Amino acid sequence: MTARATARRMVECCRQLAARGLIAGQDGNLSVRLSPNRVLVTPAGLIKSLLRPSDMVEVDSAGRKRRGRRNPTSELDLHLRILRRRRDVAAVVHAHPPTATGFATAGEELDAFALPELIFLIGRVPLVPYGTPGTPALADRVEPFLAEHDALLLANHGAVTLGRTLNEAWVRMESLEHAALILWTARTLGRVTPLAHEAVEQLQRLRARAHRERDA
Ligand SMILES: [Zn+2]
Repeated sequence: MTARATARRMVECCRQLAARGLIAGQDGNLSVRLSPNRVLVTPAGLIKSLLRPSDMVEVDSAGRKRRGRRNPTSELDLHLRILRRRRDVAAVVHAHPPTATGFATAGEELDAFALPELIFLIGRVPLVPYGTPGTPALADRVEPFLAEHDALLLANHGAVTLGRTLNEAWVRMESLEHAALILWTARTLGRVTPLAHEAVEQLQRLRARAHRERDA
């Protein structure tokens, strides 16, 4: 995809995140790897649902601005560290999905092996200890979890999802919030019934096979 088409898709994605209530106002940020040394990111300080393609900022892998009239997102360090660490990933979505962030604020990860979709699409979603937003501390906290996970909850803050494409990262963010809402509803009704051990293992095997086929 060209830089221009990617910028258009990022604008759409910001609107979708806002329309689904996964971000409010200036919340959240996106990044997409254009080439090994070029990344397109959302700008700092603007309302996400009102962004235009020309608001996106192109930076190099060291974070130096290469193109754009805006300043890059305050979470640039987080995005670049994820993209550097995970060469298989080309897009990162950071949002504040309310139910999932509720779990993160209660100090809980989303590991309930209760939903096939969650296990198959995303896997276990760990809780990353708190790091101040917009500082290197946040990326420092996130880094140890990156090798194993495509979705993370950030304590008292929000969530991060990774994908080979922006669509994949964005769908993971939607699915994460959807799963959190279902788990919360089950809890409100009385209890979350976990899947049987064999069922979880089967889903994990299917997920591993899908990854192998994808990477082959
Ligand atoms: Zn945030």
